[in-house]
Amino acid sequence: MAYASRSGRKPMERASKIAHAHVINDPGVRALLERCHVPTSPEDLTELSVLDFPADQDTQTISTVIAVDGGSTEAFIREEYPSATVTFFNFGPLMLALKDLRELDAQEFIFPEDLQKLKKIERFSLAMPTRNVALLGESGLAASFRRTLHEFVEQPRSSDSPLGDTMRWLLFRGWRGGPKPPWTLPQCPNACGGPAIELEPDTPPQTACPTCGGPVYTIDALRLHERVEEEQGAGAVTAYLLTTLEQLVIAHVIRSVLALKKTLLSEILFIKDGPLAFFGVVAPMRKPMQELCDHLDGTNGAPLLRMVGVEKSGAFVEHAIALEKNLPKGVVLPLRNEYIYRYIIPGGGTAEYGFNTYYGRKFIFRSHRGEVYVCTMPIRGDWTDEDNVLAQIAEPLSVISALRCSMYENALVPVALANKLVSLSDYPSTKILAAFARDEVASR
Ligand SMILES: [Zn+2]
Repeated sequence: MAYASRSGRKPMERASKIAHAHVINDPGVRALLERCHVPTSPEDLTELSVLDFPADQDTQTISTVIAVDGGSTEAFIREEYPSATVTFFNFGPLMLALKDLRELDAQEFIFPEDLQKLKKIERFSLAMPTRNVALLGESGLAASFRRTLHEFVEQPRSSDSPLGDTMRWLLFRGWRGGPKPPWTLPQCPNACGGPAIELEPDTPPQTACPTCGGPVYTIDALRLHERVEEEQGAGAVTAYLLTTLEQLVIAHVIRSVLALKKTLLSEILFIKDGPLAFFGVVAPMRKPMQELCDHLDGTNGAPLLRMVGVEKSGAFVEHAIALEKNLPKGVVLPLRNEYIYRYIIPGGGTAEYGFNTYYGRKFIFRSHRGEVYVCTMPIRGDWTDEDNVLAQIAEPLSVISALRCSMYENALVPVALANKLVSLSDYPSTKILAAFARDEVASR
């Protein structure tokens, strides 16, 4: 089983159930419940249209895994009220040769020396003001949040181009020839009330609003600042920011590989922690990512870009756990609209599930060894054509299956390693970060 956190019901649950009974007897709540439906339990699900997954699939082209993962931690720089915080983000790609990973998986424990052997690409760390902190010269938290993010993605890097270049490459489809579409900001990020602002492919990383003259950055395309509240802080967007940065890093690596040697891409499997999707305010980023995936279609059948998002929590994982006993080993269950709306997410309609957030298809995979994974992968062509789907997912999923790590019961090796490397609770400690942040602020 790839997911382990089923046991350990919280002790509070029993007490809170008594309160629930009280709420359910309320006539208003009862009237609402009569008009609601919740997904059907998969307990009695016996007829599943699964695809048989070939056993002993050899990896033929994938030689390298690039896992992208990150973490964030909020540190107080003033604990007394009103408290002030900054949030540290640490993320990046971890590049691992498949043969080294296989050796590691055979060992019972992973030692620090083993970690040393694994090749690391540059990691990123970012400190963002998230509550009651303003940069000197900025009008408030939202302006400070924007400028910090702008400076971070545009900062020159010794061996590589800035992440901001990759962001513009995505926004304006740098891989495409011919005219490139502009990117529209529906409102001025400085909230001056002026009309929409169009960013063009040749717009510099920082320009000015024609109405108020305030700064307009490339990163304003993410519109994260719209959810940053001067009083409440930026807590509502930290998760969106982290997953956006992780996916920006994937695009950055793809762009770097394309600049080196396009065919190299087919040797790489990208693994992302979480689904291949952009949620909330950053959802419009889904479109260029989808177009990039479509663009990287191999010419002779095999897809050039292989990418898997592996989920560790959420409704789909909970469903997979409940379904496990009904799911034979060595199968793939494609999660199509009808199934998702019936068993996992209430709702429906004719729109494809996640059509405006996902750039991949979802399925549950149970390996021949028995572990269950919820995955997203970009699928070219007909999603209902079983041969087409199997041809694209077979090799990446066999790699996923081989990477199961015995030390981290519910994790893939590279994701576990990436977690270990970026784990802010281990190194450097939150305490050290908080002290560091306080000193930085005090020294101004
Ligand atoms: Zn303006």
